[in-house]
Parts: sequence; structure tokens; C-alpha cells
Amino acid sequence: MTMTATVRVMTPEEIAARGGGETAFLHLPQRGTLFAQRAMRLRQLASGHPMGDFLRFMAELAQAQQDRLESLPGVPLPDADALDRAAKLGAPPLPAADWPRDPVWHGVAKVLAADLRAHAPAPAQAALEQIAAGADDWFERQADCLLTGVMEGLDLATAPVIGAALQVYWTHMATTLAAHDDGRGQPFGRIDDEGACPCCGSRPTASITRSNGESLGQRYLHCSLCSLQWHLVRIKCPACLSTKRLAYHSLDAAGADAPGDSRAASASLQAESCDDCGAYLKIMHSDRDPFVEPVADDLASITLDLLVSEAGYQRHGVNLMLLFGAPDAPPDPSP
Ligand SMILES: [Zn+2]
Ligand SMILES: [Zn+2]
Repeated sequence: MTMTATVRVMTPEEIAARGGGETAFLHLPQRGTLFAQRAMRLRQLASGHPMGDFLRFMAELAQAQQDRLESLPGVPLPDADALDRAAKLGAPPLPAADWPRDPVWHGVAKVLAADLRAHAPAPAQAALEQIAAGADDWFERQADCLLTGVMEGLDLATAPVIGAALQVYWTHMATTLAAHDDGRGQPFGRIDDEGACPCCGSRPTASITRSNGESLGQRYLHCSLCSLQWHLVRIKCPACLSTKRLAYHSLDAAGADAPGDSRAASASLQAESCDDCGAYLKIMHSDRDPFVEPVADDLASITLDLLVSEAGYQRHGVNLMLLFGAPDAPPDPSP
């Protein structure tokens, strides 16, 4: 077997995240480019897409998120004792449901809404006005619903912007905590639930495969809230961790295929389903398309959700930009 000699220089974040062994456990979000790359990908996917207007609007939202992330002030973070306690409990240090949120994120939501005013279609204008006029307790109630998955009391029209502001706030905390080097090493380690984000405990939006040097096609789950990506072996279902009955579905192949099927194997985006728990999560392959981005590609592939849900599987992925299970979502993808 011949091997191509490849020299790949790791970023400081990757070196920091590498906890021994060949495969890095974590990929930290790249603070300077995360949302801007998402915006770029959304614009690319919007071209000729039946939901092009929606994807372009989401691109404006992602670009506005990037601008906000770059200008956020310092916020309270867990101290060394809190990090130790979380590590001992096998719990995430910035838990989505319990972390005492700094109200700075209300201001983020208001500026995001203001940035979107110029691009928003008429029906969305009222929602943006509501955010602009939002009171502190209203913001906190919406966040509680969104972060604990409670639909009752959640304002669906404003939810994508509320979710976007919370993503900015949590990504800010995750990257600030990771960059703060007090000689203790990575603040994020393995937690008890392998399927939950080791930083905030949230569910993933989707998986992305990455190849690093000699480790090919490693699967990372992309956190729906703080944007961290953590490693989970390919043979485990991200929802129930079973290793038995996984199958792959793609639009190209129209139907379920066993892993290794030549048609399904060529698709850059698939749904991975589990017959043990009945859940599915999309998986995107960066070695088949280097521009795949979990949130953007998830939004642009709702027809795959329809296909897989018709086959009886439940969506496991969370996308704060588009809440499934809601009465008026997802939008009709037909032209
Ligand atoms: Zn997270
Ligand atoms: Zn499962």
C-alpha cells in the first residue's frame, strides 16, 4: 500500500484539543470565521435552490452573527473550581439549560434584528420589531423554551433570531474559555453522555467527517448551540449509542443503503438512521465536498428530512434556525 506523504500544520486550537492518540477529541469553533463561512456556504447553496430566498436570508443572519461575535465584551465564565466540579461529575461546564445567562445576549438579539430589517420579507418584519422592543423577562422566557426544547410558550416567528443570539453568546463563552490558558489545559473533556456536547450538553445539528493526516473520515458531532465539534466513533448511533443497526440514506440513492453502497457512498450529505431507537442524524463529508457546513447544509437539505421521515425515522438533529415539529415549520421546499 502506497501512502502519500502529507505535511499538515495543525492550528494551535487543534494542538490544544488533541488529547493524545491519533484523533483529536475536539474541534473548537474558529471564532474569526465560523459564522462568515456559514454565510458564504448558505449563499452558495441558495443559488438555484427552491428555498433560495430563505437560505439567503439565513446567510444575512449568519453574517450578522459574525459581526456580533467579534464585538462581544467579556462575560462571566466558570472558574477553576467550577470546571473541576463539572469534570468530576462528567457534566458540561457551560450547560445550556442551567447556565446563568448574562443579559448581554439580549442586546445581541436586538442588533441582529436591526441588521436584518433591510433584508427581511414583509412577514418577518413584525417579528423583528418584537425583538427590538423585547423586555428582559421575555428574552429569558424564550431562551428557556428554546434551550430546553419546550414548544409551549415559544414564539416561533422570533425563535431563529433568539437562537442565533444564543449561539453567538455560547460560542463567545466556549472560545473565550478555551483560549484562556492558565496552564490547566483544555477546559472541555469527555462527559458522561457521549452524544451530548462536552461544553454545553446540547444535541448536535449534524455530523461532519474530517480527515486529518492518517486518520481518515473521523466523525464529529457539531453542537447546535456553542459550535464545538466533538468526536464520536462512526459505528455508534449519536442518539442511543447503539452500534447495531445503522443505515445511510441519501437523495441521490433514493432509499436506504448499507454502508459501503457505491451510490450512497458518493453523496456528500447523507442521513444516518438507527433501527434501534428510530432516530436519524445527517452526516456531511468534508472530503467529498470541502465546503460542507453543518448548519447551512442542514437547512438546504429539507427534502432529505422529508424522505427519511416518510420512512418512519425521527429527526435527532437540532437546528435553532429551523425548528422541526412546529406547526408552521419546516417550510414547503417544493418550488
Ligand atoms: Zn455545545
Ligand atoms: Zn439509535
